[in-house]
Amino acid sequence: MPPAAHSPVKNMKAEDIRKPDMEKKGLIFDIQAFSVHDGPGCRTNVFLAGCPLQCKWCANPESWICKKHLMFAEKMCKYDHGCRACKDACPYGSIVITESEKPRINWEICKNCRTFECTGVCPNNVLKQCVKEYEPEELVSILRRDFNNWGAEGGVTFSGGDPILQHEFLIEVLKDCRKWNIHTSIETSAYFPEEIFLQVMEYIHFAFIDVKNMDSIAHEMGTGVGNERILSNISALKASGWKGRLVLRQPTIWGYNDSDENARQLIAFMQENDLFEVNLLKFHRLGTTKWEQLGKTYEYSDHGDMSDERMKELQNIYLKANIACYIGDDTLF
Ligand code: SF4
Ligand code: SF4
Repeated sequence: MPPAAHSPVKNMKAEDIRKPDMEKKGLIFDIQAFSVHDGPGCRTNVFLAGCPLQCKWCANPESWICKKHLMFAEKMCKYDHGCRACKDACPYGSIVITESEKPRINWEICKNCRTFECTGVCPNNVLKQCVKEYEPEELVSILRRDFNNWGAEGGVTFSGGDPILQHEFLIEVLKDCRKWNIHTSIETSAYFPEEIFLQVMEYIHFAFIDVKNMDSIAHEMGTGVGNERILSNISALKASGWKGRLVLRQPTIWGYNDSDENARQLIAFMQENDLFEVNLLKFHRLGTTKWEQLGKTYEYSDHGDMSDERMKELQNIYLKANIACYIGDDTLF
């Protein structure tokens, strides 16, 4: 069955997702070394918190909010072994734990928490704070420890969330990367005011930009926002004389954006803008547990799967139009 309905995503309030706690400090939810799929060579990936989109199939829903927040890994809870360590840990009354039930979290209360007393008491790391705060120079000095892993082509990839959401912080980090001659890649939605988007891209050597759906209404149904700003920013980037390499990317989801028509429209857009590379990512459910840990409902738990055959058919549509089309991790760097 196709997705029951593409009811619009309910975006959180702008202040929840768009404003970092402190503008020149960055909120980062993960740093991962030794990546070979997110840009040329061997890379260190930095995942910045906050995203202007909220895709219904998102694999990193913990990245949506640009502020510190709680994750509750319920399946790892040792309640059944007698643990009650978190019973009185929350001064706001968010945790309820009884003799016969696992801890229950009141997410409405936790949404506004700034103190996270609960995370210090759980002996099993079941209650944890999602993001950490960094100064730009502090982050770059951590990244530079990986210098010897990168080789001649590698460097750092900024991902998220969407790294441009924290553009003040990101630009400071990118300036420092330029100073140290570090190759920079980005994975972004491009859903930002053009001036900010172009300002960040000036420091970027390689970019993946997502175009989730060529139909703006469907784009909004799946992500919470239309696609006009994204498409116009991509065109503006190409027209700006930017010297980097751009690969468009599409998470490919059955019943949402897997039609021939969507591929044809993307091809037309690419041809108009002198773009010749696209990366189709087959839908997966790796983020399911994270939705549970955040107390959210995952709508794509039972639909959206793509067959390998259909991925190949779509790839052939692009190849026939002389567009290099990479599936999954096969992007040539
Ligand atoms: S995150 Fe804050 S409000 Fe929520 S349980 Fe922990 S201490 Fe209480
Ligand atoms: S302290 Fe941690 S492991 Fe123990 S009951 Fe609370 S959440 Fe579960």
